[in-house]
Amino acid sequence: MAFKRCCYCGKIFLPDPRVGDRQKACSKACQRLRKRENNRSFSRRNPGYWRGRYDYLRGWRLTHPDYQRQWRQRRKAQNKATLFEIQAERLRKAIELTGRTQFYLREIQAEFLVQPSLGASFVFQSP
Ligand SMILES: [Zn+2]
Repeated sequence: MAFKRCCYCGKIFLPDPRVGDRQKACSKACQRLRKRENNRSFSRRNPGYWRGRYDYLRGWRLTHPDYQRQWRQRRKAQNKATLFEIQAERLRKAIELTGRTQFYLREIQAEFLVQPSLGASFVFQSP
């Protein structure tokens, strides 16, 4: 799978194999930006979509008096979880990158050890 450039932060990333070439955003934070942009674009393309709903909404809220308070609590907990997930994902990526870098360094080191004539084998001599 090919690396892509994130449309939001510009970083190079490896798309999730399940999304593949369709993936535009590198991380949860950038996916949020993408979602927000899509919502704004929808509202621009469908002006008045949200108008005229308040009478219906008022009736619904009267039959579900506690809904909004619970929704706010759920959202608060979700935001905390999302922040944690973003940090965990960044850590996982950093560890993965470190592992890959170490692999490539070992490969280069092995090449020098096999071919000392490359002239830089002294770099890797142990004390
Ligand atoms: Zn990004």
